[in-house]
Amino acid sequence: MAKWFEIHLWKRVIFALVLGIVAGLALRQGMGPDAAGAFAETWIAWLGELFLRLIRMLIVPLIFFTLVSGIIAMGDPKRLGSLGARTIALYFATTAFAVSIGLIMASLFRPGASLSPETFEGADVSRMEEVRSGAAEAGSLVDRLLAIVPTNPVEALASGNILSIIFFAIMFGVGILMAGEVARPVAKWFDGASEAMLKVTEIIMETAPFGVFALMATTMATNGLGVLQSLGTLAIALYIACVLHILITYGGIIIKGVLRLPLIPFYRGVTDAQAVAYSTASSSATLPVTITCAEENLGVDKAVAGSVLPLGATINMDGTAIYIGMVALFGAQAMGIDVSLAQYVLIALMATLVSIGAAGIPSAGLFLSGLALSQVGIPEEQAFLIIGFILPFDRLLDMMRTLTNVTGDSAVATAVAKWERELDEDVYRAPDFY
Ligand code: ASP
Repeated sequence: MAKWFEIHLWKRVIFALVLGIVAGLALRQGMGPDAAGAFAETWIAWLGELFLRLIRMLIVPLIFFTLVSGIIAMGDPKRLGSLGARTIALYFATTAFAVSIGLIMASLFRPGASLSPETFEGADVSRMEEVRSGAAEAGSLVDRLLAIVPTNPVEALASGNILSIIFFAIMFGVGILMAGEVARPVAKWFDGASEAMLKVTEIIMETAPFGVFALMATTMATNGLGVLQSLGTLAIALYIACVLHILITYGGIIIKGVLRLPLIPFYRGVTDAQAVAYSTASSSATLPVTITCAEENLGVDKAVAGSVLPLGATINMDGTAIYIGMVALFGAQAMGIDVSLAQYVLIALMATLVSIGAAGIPSAGLFLSGLALSQVGIPEEQAFLIIGFILPFDRLLDMMRTLTNVTGDSAVATAVAKWERELDEDVYRAPDFY
């Protein structure tokens, strides 16, 4: 038992992830797809669900307390401006790179070329209502921006509306700073509360290997690797694009090129978050883990981690942007539509905007890709058929884009921390982490 805790958490989580994949596929092989799915749903899924509930429980209090205490720790509201500007600029820049890589890969691999419009006739349209409401939920840009300001902060906290919580937490933190002496006890209280929430996160992360195992085993037993047959080229193109983006944009350009930091500690440091992202397919659910990884493994100051990461989990989705661009080209190729250069640019813009609007929950990216399909001239009805065709296999694609999304948030948090002189490089380079 003591031996188990001596192994670094990231190693245990990776081990559980691989074991979950193997166990799920073995079940499927041994019992057949239907029986394996039913077995996993009955006996294994609850463990994954329990883990998900535990980390979801952390999201609202963790963001609220760490962000308020982070703002107080900054000591000067003016610093918020430079932090915010740097963060948003970097989020846009990485997403632009992501879309470009995605479009290049989709043009090289031509995942839709072997399909024809008839392919989609048999699409699963049973969940179309879900798709429609998913797309409708996005609303207009103005509505989405207005919705960031909560009319009732308590309601925003209760419904877990992350952008509104961030907005209120920042205002409240600034208020505490401006109130000065009288608000000192409140400041201290928030400091204690945020420390306590981080401890709760640590406890829950000890259960991550079991949760990740159960989530992976259930996904594999239910879905298998069928995606590789049905949507093989799209899946391969997406995985390659995401890996390239993680290695080139985050690793090569940001961490090594701009920040001049060694690469290995970065990738080791974000492993837990990546594994949880991959198994849950939700950046929001992964958020508490992303925050802990950034603070404890990468040495990102808590004010930076507490503000940059929640924002990233909601607006920075590079994997999703890669995917939305790819789906647009996939649809165009299958429908035999020629895409002009101007349309490429429009698809890139649309993919960037849509990825910002996508929620950090499973399948959000797929539901919104209909918007990009219309950009290449595909009518709504057919767009829904294409989405319905991909839907049953989306999970394995979603896992990879979520992993990319979370890695991107962490890379940006590291960069902003370094620029703000809030990166503890001793922690980042800590040798005992290996
Ligand atoms: N599941 C992704 C996320 O949470 C969003 C998407 O569907 O692309 O980051």
